Amino acid sequence: MAVGALLMAGAAACGGGSEHAVMAVSVPAQKAIAERFGGGVEVLALVSGDVDPESFEISIRTAAQASGAKAYFPTGALPFERSFVEALHGSVPVVATGTDIEPIEGTHGEHGGVDPHVWTSAGFRRAFADGYFRELCRLYPDSVDNFSRRASEIQNMFAMQDDSIRRVLGGREYAFGIMHPSLSYFARDWGLRQIAFNPENKEPGAMAVRQLVDSMRAAGVKVIFYEDPGSEGQARLLADEVGARAVAIDLMSGDIGAELVRIANEIARP
Ligand SMILES: [Zn+2]
Repeated sequence: MAVGALLMAGAAACGGGSEHAVMAVSVPAQKAIAERFGGGVEVLALVSGDVDPESFEISIRTAAQASGAKAYFPTGALPFERSFVEALHGSVPVVATGTDIEPIEGTHGEHGGVDPHVWTSAGFRRAFADGYFRELCRLYPDSVDNFSRRASEIQNMFAMQDDSIRRVLGGREYAFGIMHPSLSYFARDWGLRQIAFNPENKEPGAMAVRQLVDSMRAAGVKVIFYEDPGSEGQARLLADEVGARAVAIDLMSGDIGAELVRIANEIARP
């Protein structure tokens, strides 16, 4: 309720005909794509820095900033988004993109079972770029030519990143280990097998760890990814058992496309 009241106060404060346009998105992966369109628009990522997007709760300050946005683009998969959109009370247009991406279920016990890491999906990033482009054109029809040019540059960038990943993986069905199942969409895109240390976000018991080590060995896992620095020690121990490398990844990095190319290289490295 407090957030709702502050949103209204923020909207009133921002309603003074300011020329400074803000677009709100959920995660840095969207922000980095949106910023490539330029147009003098500031892009605000609601989730940023060293936070877990799954347990993230929006701060009153960020909510107030977002209440002045021209539009908000949720991922459609993060738990905080629903209550945030409700708190907006229709004051900011909400633009859903990537709604045709088939949700992955069964990797996360919570959140109704839907895997929230949808921004690792190439289809989601393309759909977001497309939806953001259309919204920009609607808001700033005078700049359509400029936005169109940027849109094709962005689509070219996506195609080059996909080509790099395709070349590196060479159509082979690699398996990789990961502490938390945050690469499910990427794995589906490329026909890879993700073996997570804590499927459903639960710590496995000793018996389950034994089975996990066995299945990682049997699948030829050469790399175990970890994102949370707090799980580095566990990742290293597991990697030693499996005969794999422990490698840090950052899926909250803005340049998610480049990060996924790097991840593909790590997966394919013998
Ligand atoms: Zn997760």
